[in-house]
Amino acid sequence: MDTHPTPRPDVAAIPRYVPGRRPTPRPGLTTYKLSSNENPYPPLPGVVEAVAEVAPRSTTYPDPTCPDLYAALERRHPGRALLAGTGSVALIFHTLQAYCRPGDEVVFAWRSFEAYPIATAAAGATAVEVPLTVDGRHDLDAMLAAVTDRTRVVMVCTPNNPTGATVTQGELVAFLRALRDDVLVLLDEAYVEFVRDDDPVDAAAILDEFEQVVVLRTFSKAYGLAGFRVGYAVGAAEVVDPVRAIVLPFGVTDAAQAAARAALATEDVAQERIAALVAERERVLAGIHAAGWNVPAAQGNFIWFPGDATIEPLMKAAEELGIVVRPYPPDGVRVSLGVPEANDRIIELARAVRPSC
Ligand SMILES: *Cc1c(COP(=O)(O)O)cnc(C)c1O
Repeated sequence: MDTHPTPRPDVAAIPRYVPGRRPTPRPGLTTYKLSSNENPYPPLPGVVEAVAEVAPRSTTYPDPTCPDLYAALERRHPGRALLAGTGSVALIFHTLQAYCRPGDEVVFAWRSFEAYPIATAAAGATAVEVPLTVDGRHDLDAMLAAVTDRTRVVMVCTPNNPTGATVTQGELVAFLRALRDDVLVLLDEAYVEFVRDDDPVDAAAILDEFEQVVVLRTFSKAYGLAGFRVGYAVGAAEVVDPVRAIVLPFGVTDAAQAAARAALATEDVAQERIAALVAERERVLAGIHAAGWNVPAAQGNFIWFPGDATIEPLMKAAEELGIVVRPYPPDGVRVSLGVPEANDRIIELARAVRPSC
């Protein structure tokens, strides 16, 4: 065939999203997938039952108004516009599509969430990647300096995936006060529940002062519902409503709505598990530091081992220990926290490889 349909020329250049690898089964050794920042606990109490209850409705399309889910979210974010989507990653794509014209610029820190360059390219926009500081933090001054007349959106990821570092409330407020009012800021808080900072970002206060901000949250991480694909955006109606035109019809299934609703209804158990993961994070960090590594302070459910030269030895040692971790060449390796036994192996991993930081 000589002629065939041709995609947009820039599509071939879009980097492919690389999912975290699954472990190869090892006889006599329990293996752990620590490569996708997933929650290691079983679904929260009530989730499986809530999903089973709506399963008989699966011959019909879901209720696109997500009434129960929005009612529960409305109680947490009173007076704000809310938009649920098939994971907050979908809302990143939709928001950039709604706000960017070809050639517009999207500023974000790099290394950060690998979906950002993909979503930017999918929207036909141009990515402006601003290097992180040496300790894996957003360089907000440099990001501000990278804003031009063509900038339509700035992404702020806190805690940053994969480095685990946060932006503080003080830093974010100063940044937003200095930023042009017509630049949309997507504040990606996929790991907010795990933050134990001194000056944590206060999304409600941010939204009160800055209409240009849209906050993204997900049920995939702290609430353990990655398989259901549900996340949401919170912001001012003027800014969030246009994105509704673009979301996939019937994207959030009844099962996903029921699961998210049930997870919110067992907030106490969710918080206990989050606290357990945070305690594990501090235990593992102490073990890694004792092994001589000066890894950055982690505020998500994952730990970052920076450095190009250590990627290979870390990957090799992890394989031997029966854990699958996530390389981000040339920047470093991200290791998600798991159950305590898996976390013991993260400490062993740090002991097995000569520190690069
Ligand atoms: C995991 C993650 C998301 C969203 O995940 P969904 O499963 O699509 O809700 C968004 N941002 C960052 C930085 C993440 O790590």
